[in-house]
Amino acid sequence: AKENGKNNYQFYNDELNKKMKRKMILETYLHKAIEKNELTVHYQPQFNLTSFKIVGAEALLRWECPMGKIPPDEFIPIAEETGLIMPIGEWVLRQACRDIKRFKANGLESFPISVNISTRQLMAPNFIERVQTIIAEEGVEPKLLTLEITESAFLYYEDAKDNILALRNLGVGVSLDDFGIGYSSLSMIRKIEIDELKIDRSFLNDSIKNNRVRSLLEAIIQIGKKIDTKVIVEGIETKEQIDILTVHGVFGQGYFYSRPLPVDEFEVWYTSRETH
Ligand code: C2E
Ligand code: CA
Ligand code: CA
Ligand code: CA
Repeated sequence: AKENGKNNYQFYNDELNKKMKRKMILETYLHKAIEKNELTVHYQPQFNLTSFKIVGAEALLRWECPMGKIPPDEFIPIAEETGLIMPIGEWVLRQACRDIKRFKANGLESFPISVNISTRQLMAPNFIERVQTIIAEEGVEPKLLTLEITESAFLYYEDAKDNILALRNLGVGVSLDDFGIGYSSLSMIRKIEIDELKIDRSFLNDSIKNNRVRSLLEAIIQIGKKIDTKVIVEGIETKEQIDILTVHGVFGQGYFYSRPLPVDEFEVWYTSRETH
């Protein structure tokens, strides 16, 4: 038994070392990701579920480094810890602005692009100024840009509030991402006016087999409606899920409609899709 315990410890230690080593290597690569052109932005469409009209698209960052394709859930936390999220976040924002212009030039109807913003970016003292500068330099209409924030921003409520107000004054939309899974979702919308709620996909997932969760999902949708806020449900994967949602007149996005696509594939998909 003693021998066994030692082996387990050894195993655990090796795994930990492997993880730490991988993280360190990724960190080194991430420093060069922008200059080495390893970052791309993919787009996932958002729909009016009854009319099939496209109401927006979410920009999702992708990174391919010498270690392969690294998922955002792995590299975004590293970017946040190291501060690299600042240049990387600006890069995504600028790229999204360029693609807004690109879509227009290629004849797509205009719809807002949503960009994910880390709390660390939102809280930076010059964030508003940077957003304003990038929008001006790229020459896009602020209303075609939505910034998705999460409730962790509200740990720094006073500053977050000022920055969110300033963004909305610029004419940029603000969306609360992963709504409903944090600790203070209600308190956030009580304190600050927000343009859009994005209901976390776990609600929709669990709604199929759990009536209580389904009732909660419906109640959250009603909350959004009552305060005149756009509601988007994310993670739609099946027809069954759409049937739950259509009666509520919400917006949605998910693999059922389209995975996030590279910008050129997104355009092909957009122009070739059947319109109803
Ligand atoms: P998120 O903002 O909650 O984004 C939604 C995630 O769900 C995306 O994962 C998307 O690809 C995935 N998804 C979309 N439809 C479905 C579906 O039907 N089923 C399932 N199971 N998943 C679906 P992704 O692209 O891997 O991004 C993961 C997270 O990384 C994002 O979660 C966001 O928090 C973060 N992230 C991605 N891009 C950026 C960025 O540019 N900046 C920042 N700060 N964070 C980003
Ligand atoms: Ca998001
Ligand atoms: Ca989300
Ligand atoms: Ca998320």
